Amino acid sequence: MFKESGGTSGSPAGRQGARLDVRGGRAVHELSICRSVADIVARHAAGRPVTRVHLRVGALRQVVPDTLVYCWELAHADAAGAEVLAGSVLVVESVPAGVRCRRCGVHSELAVPILRCAACGTTDVVLVSGEEFLVTSFEVATDAVEA
Ligand SMILES: [Zn+2]
Repeated sequence: MFKESGGTSGSPAGRQGARLDVRGGRAVHELSICRSVADIVARHAAGRPVTRVHLRVGALRQVVPDTLVYCWELAHADAAGAEVLAGSVLVVESVPAGVRCRRCGVHSELAVPILRCAACGTTDVVLVSGEEFLVTSFEVATDAVEA
């Protein structure tokens, strides 16, 4: 859930993201993702005009960040209570897919979605990033809100 802390920024590791229920993601269209985000942010903005919404999307989600940004305007036009989102900008942060090797312990980022250790080549790895989909924060006209 959103934790409002009046513009202080916590360390990324300490943040609690508002995880959206878009599991089964491959079939989820960018527009419907944007609608979910618009709905959640509008609700938490509680009437304050929103200027920017920060969204973190893992590479394995297979959504196109540019398409998300394009869909944003369409999505918030018809979201409930979305007048607070008029003129707001969606900022998408892409998270590369990352794995930790069970054999040698190395953490590597993947250029292609083949789950393999970059150091020793084994496929005995634990997926540690790439499936993110969360609103990290949003900013309102007079203040910032950590998500
Ligand atoms: Zn390894």
